[in-house]
Amino acid sequence: MARIKRIDHVALVVDDIDAALGFWRDALGLELSHVEDVPEQESVVAFLPTGESEVELVRPTTDDSGVAKYLRKRGPGMHHICLEVDDIEEMLQQLKERGVELINETPTLGTGGKKIAFIHPRSTQGVLVELYELSPQEPQIRLERARHLAERVVARGRAMAVTTYAFLRGLRRNGEE
Ligand code: ZN
Repeated sequence: MARIKRIDHVALVVDDIDAALGFWRDALGLELSHVEDVPEQESVVAFLPTGESEVELVRPTTDDSGVAKYLRKRGPGMHHICLEVDDIEEMLQQLKERGVELINETPTLGTGGKKIAFIHPRSTQGVLVELYELSPQEPQIRLERARHLAERVVARGRAMAVTTYAFLRGLRRNGEE
């Protein structure tokens, strides 16, 4: 029997990330770990860790993706819940045997090489459920992403320092004149 380990994330569809952060980050006090463009999901996603899990704010970047249609039809709100499972193939088999309707009969590869599959809301009392299995490469991929992110932040900091320096030098020069 495959086993559910924890809630990995809850995904909310929003039409304005900044407005949504006004509640989730500013009012509630969650930390924003990063915002990422996810072309394969045609979305921009903001990640807010909550201990072992994460809240994800998803804003569609095209008009015809599933998330975009969902947003148009229902407005902003809950999109799906994602559960981590120890063996996704076995779980999908198990569900099929019980007559559960699957959107993905076999796992697809998501961001960072993780295996994911969706269960149809018709079989879950109206909630889109995502299953996810941690791949062995994922911790390495995550580390690399974090490193790239850190490098980008440092590069941006350096660019800012140069601008600040030029600005200060300008001030000093003006002061001398
Ligand atoms: Zn998800």
